[in-house]
Amino acid sequence: MDMGCIFCKIIKGEIPCYKVYEDDQFFAFLDIRPTNKGHCLVVPKNHYRWVWDVNEDYSKIVNKIANAQKKAFETSWVVSFVMGEEVPHAHIHLVPRFENDGHGPLINLESVKEFSKEEMQEFATRIKNFL
Ligand SMILES: [Zn+2]
Repeated sequence: MDMGCIFCKIIKGEIPCYKVYEDDQFFAFLDIRPTNKGHCLVVPKNHYRWVWDVNEDYSKIVNKIANAQKKAFETSWVVSFVMGEEVPHAHIHLVPRFENDGHGPLINLESVKEFSKEEMQEFATRIKNFL
């Protein structure tokens, strides 16, 4: 754990989030700056700086959540990306995409959407229902 890390605080429950998944190693929650409905962040519970430092179980969980998003939002188009520079705790973005979703052929990371708390909660529940 890193005391100053916002994701460590979310994992510990010190900062609220829209939780999608949790097991002994991994945690997934909705990005509060969503580029589309159901935009998730998948993180290891231990504080690793980079995704490359995390064990191979990580990819299995990312796969599982992406497939749940596909069913939850009835799309075959889920994009993933890793930058690692926004928060210094390893995280993978998973974003469901749709035709005419306001992005171009490539997702525009600056195009953040606004959803109500109720909508965000509903998106998290929808994904959980397929896990
Ligand atoms: Zn952390």
